Amino acid sequence: MRRYAVISDIHGNLHALEAVLAEIARMGISKIICLGDVVGYGPFPDRCIDLVIKCCSTAIRGNHDDAVINPESLVDFNGPAREAIQWTVGVLGPLHLNALVRLKEVDRLHDSVLCIHDSPIDSPTDYVHDAHIAALAFSGFTEPICLLGHTHVPVVFDAPASNGEVLTAHEIVTHTPEPGRPFAMGSDRRQICNPGSVGQPRDADPRASFAVLDLDERTFTVHRCVYDICAAQAATQEAGLPTVLADRLAIGA
Ligand code: ZN
Repeated sequence: MRRYAVISDIHGNLHALEAVLAEIARMGISKIICLGDVVGYGPFPDRCIDLVIKCCSTAIRGNHDDAVINPESLVDFNGPAREAIQWTVGVLGPLHLNALVRLKEVDRLHDSVLCIHDSPIDSPTDYVHDAHIAALAFSGFTEPICLLGHTHVPVVFDAPASNGEVLTAHEIVTHTPEPGRPFAMGSDRRQICNPGSVGQPRDADPRASFAVLDLDERTFTVHRCVYDICAAQAATQEAGLPTVLADRLAIGA
């Protein structure tokens, strides 16, 4: 059975991660792909790293994970994000830092799925958040499916299979997934699929987001999962992290 849970952008939110992993277990899915940003923003980077290493068959390194082990990239981050990364550097020991070093930048499943954190192309913006950028991103991989995170917004970009020529935005169908409703991936089409964020959703729905990729049924289904947001906010405050990082959890922004 080629059925995978897909999680991304956990950002040290242990309460959200535990709720999502419990839901995935309840669904009977044993293979989990993590698309990166295990740490940054939230107060439990160590325990989130432990769970990802234990539970995920594939784990990708995100830009926040990278900034923790490569401090020179900190200049790319805004104030609260940078503050949270510096806080994370201060609390992680060598074993957890080494676990971040060992995460892969890209991975592939069955030669048909590319797994990456942000974008398969080098471009001025690595946020694949609209049809224009998705059209360019399709030229950056040859597999039928690309899984990515980074924007914290669940979405499927659906495109005709091309022979390597760059697509235009009007050829891309942007699909905003309805939770629990499978998106059927046509075998004559290619898809960029984003499961949304476990630990810091930004689509105005504060519930944790993840997805199930079924390669036999050829479906991608986004799921939302309630978790104890108040407890996550309290832990964020207690850790001394910027207040805005706790506040935004309640509104999904
Ligand atoms: Zn992120």
